[in-house]
Amino acid sequence: MAAAPHTIRMHERDNVAIVANDGGLPPGTALPGGPTLRERVPQGHKVALVDIAAGAPVLRYGIPIGHAREAIAAGRWVHERLLQMPEARGLSDLPMATRPAPDWAPLEGYTFEGYRNADGSVGTRNILAITQTVQCVAGVTDFAVQRIKAELLPKYPHVDDVVALEHGYGCGVAIDAPDAVVPIRTLRHISQNPNFGGEVMVVSLGCEKLQPERLLPPGSLPIADARGEALDVVCLQDEAHVGFMSMVESILRQAEAHLQRLNARRRETVPASELVVGVQCGGSDAFSGATANPAVGFCADLLVRAGASVMFSETTEVRDGIAQLTARAATPEVAQALVREMAWYDAYLQRGSVDRSANTTPGNKKGGLSNIVEKAMGSIVKSGSAPIRHVLAPGEKLRGKGLAYAATPASDFICGTLQLAAGMNLHVFTTGRGTPYGLAAVPVVKVATRSDLARRWHDLMDINAGTIADGQATIEDVGWELFRFLLDVASGRKKTWAEQWKLHNQLVLFNPAPVT
Ligand code: CA
Repeated sequence: MAAAPHTIRMHERDNVAIVANDGGLPPGTALPGGPTLRERVPQGHKVALVDIAAGAPVLRYGIPIGHAREAIAAGRWVHERLLQMPEARGLSDLPMATRPAPDWAPLEGYTFEGYRNADGSVGTRNILAITQTVQCVAGVTDFAVQRIKAELLPKYPHVDDVVALEHGYGCGVAIDAPDAVVPIRTLRHISQNPNFGGEVMVVSLGCEKLQPERLLPPGSLPIADARGEALDVVCLQDEAHVGFMSMVESILRQAEAHLQRLNARRRETVPASELVVGVQCGGSDAFSGATANPAVGFCADLLVRAGASVMFSETTEVRDGIAQLTARAATPEVAQALVREMAWYDAYLQRGSVDRSANTTPGNKKGGLSNIVEKAMGSIVKSGSAPIRHVLAPGEKLRGKGLAYAATPASDFICGTLQLAAGMNLHVFTTGRGTPYGLAAVPVVKVATRSDLARRWHDLMDINAGTIADGQATIEDVGWELFRFLLDVASGRKKTWAEQWKLHNQLVLFNPAPVT
């Protein structure tokens, strides 16, 4: 027997709901307390609950996600072709820091086992990272990393991994262009990620534009500076190197000194306030905003109440909710910074002759998301309801607790790379269509929006928020499950699926500046 028809309506004002049943619902299905379907509606797609006149707003999350291009009868499938997308909200006359902060009791007593660093940050993993100034050295570094893993790592059992910070930048770029600051500071700050323990070593070619001293100028490495050490650089063009193997041996020799120090470190009990959690979504569907993202938002509130740092990002996916964000800013200055980042991104898109509507993918649409407005309303709920205390431009480092907006593109790899630079030590990723995304530098906890995905991808998804749509769990239940899982993963007691399978996506730098 087929499951009873089940739809999800997000707000009492909404004149559409999404179909929750696996496989969608056939024509003739009578919705409980609603109309009878006039056509098949796929899972995650919208059905008109009442007759909607031509030109009238189609409401989801209580706001217009578009206007009807023609009259839409109750029971019809409301797909993207029936919707005229609204203009983006302007950036003037916004409510600035108007919403009072929630009256929350602090959440006390939660801890995890982490690696405390000399600069005060805390790692969730103990990894040797090898920074590169330029793509030219990537092959040599990778060769050396394979040997380090085979020959050195077994001698240092307290070190989790060795990671080459490979990227496409460093030469063939307009290095003095104003926007070049973005990729350069991104690389600099990634080298300082808490999971690398302050052990920075650099492989350089020698002739590249991004010289090691420009990437990591004196004073930028607080831990090495405190030890009175110079920047540790292996330069391949150094005349001392005769033949490829002498370069590889140099990298191994330098790496061993760092491995010895990393190996001496031990986890210690630290408060949950030392977590720096980056949240993002990818491969989203119409369930994202109803299940996984609200659960992540609930968990974000728990983290903020525990004194931790949480950052959300993805500028094109919050742009349509800018009025919500500026209202939630802790101060007018934070609200202004939000407007600054949105305006910068509007101009960046305009330079490429597109706007925010370039965001949605074929998969998003197949999953029921008609346009970027609908996607944004579902995406923004990942941020929970805490006041926004900090705003970071792309590549900047987070300094401070509470909720932060780290401005990044929505591209999964670029967002993840920029959140690494901001200093995250855990990453939470929600997906509806499914993605095997993972990073080498921090654990990535993946949250499925639908039980069907969680069942099929049972060894890739860490948390199933589809239980919310199934009626088996509440948003609060899944939020708490995620919170506890994060503490276990941070402590090394549990591994994420992406860690178990070593699924590592590349670092992808955001470079808004010209290449030459
Ligand atoms: Ca994304």
